[in-house]
Amino acid sequence: AKEAGKNNCQFYTKGMNATAVNYLLLENDLRRAIEQQQLTLYYQPQVDLKTGEMTGVEALVRWQHPERGIVSPAHFIPLAEETGLIVPIGEWVLREACRQQKLWLDAGKYIGKIAVNLSPRQFRQKNFPGKVEAILAEIGLAAKYLELEITESCAMEHAGETINQLNQLNQMGMYLAIDDFGTGYSSLAYLQRFPVQKLKIDRSFIHDIHDDANYAAIAKSIIGLAHNMQMRVIAEGVENEGQAEWLRTHGCDQAQGFFYAKPMTAKQLEGHFRNGRFY
Ligand code: C2E
Ligand code: CA
Ligand code: CA
Ligand code: CA
Repeated sequence: AKEAGKNNCQFYTKGMNATAVNYLLLENDLRRAIEQQQLTLYYQPQVDLKTGEMTGVEALVRWQHPERGIVSPAHFIPLAEETGLIVPIGEWVLREACRQQKLWLDAGKYIGKIAVNLSPRQFRQKNFPGKVEAILAEIGLAAKYLELEITESCAMEHAGETINQLNQLNQMGMYLAIDDFGTGYSSLAYLQRFPVQKLKIDRSFIHDIHDDANYAAIAKSIIGLAHNMQMRVIAEGVENEGQAEWLRTHGCDQAQGFFYAKPMTAKQLEGHFRNGRFY
């Protein structure tokens, strides 16, 4: 029996999907990532398409793994969401973004609003608005310096609850944005009831915007939709002048992407910032 057990075990090890093993190892490491201070935030500028001025930054989390190097959030956020680790990680991100914003403000550096990504499990917590309020109070940051992003698919999934959460956050005075817009299935009736100030056009529509009529048509409708609902609209993933020019011509308000700047550390961002302007 012992022999068979051993064989089974061997079989199991060999047969087990390498990515599944990897995932388990990664989960263990992720549990310790916060206390071991392996998480950091990078910041990517958002720019006003008419004036070229920086309107704010999006905070993007990075995990500096001791052996694997930088692990992409596209890889570990889904894992964090699945395991519930997103709750402490998301709270760390929010606190760190607010802490950094407060440091900048106290130093007289107005970077604009700081946008933080929320994942569905984090946003759905019953006491989430209360948690945000507590963090702002603890840090001494006014809500108007913070922007929260939830994805279109998260917003629409339980739209009734979403309205409730967004109303509470909106009443505190922060800015709210719908991320990855155009990739989910929006009910326009709900969209109109969400107290949000901004739509972010998903970068998949931006890539071929100047030579694909279908993408151009989608982007035009999103810009029109946002403006008809008194919202601002920002395009993400802007990588070249052609895309920026198209967006400017078609009335998009803001842009974000490698054409302007890659996500960078707080220190690097400060190096681009002189006399209240971003260079
Ligand atoms: P997202 O919210 O759509 O963030 C934008 C992503 O596009 C970022 O990837 C950014 O680096 C990338 N990007 C920016 N400009 C360009 C460009 O011009 N071209 C291209 N190809 N890509 C560009 P990143 O930082 O790897 O983040 C990936 C996703 O992970 C984010 O997508 C977001 O969904 C999630 N994420 C990142 N940080 C957090 C966080 O703190 N909390 C949560 N819940 N999710 C996060
Ligand atoms: Ca985002
Ligand atoms: Ca996005
Ligand atoms: Ca995205």
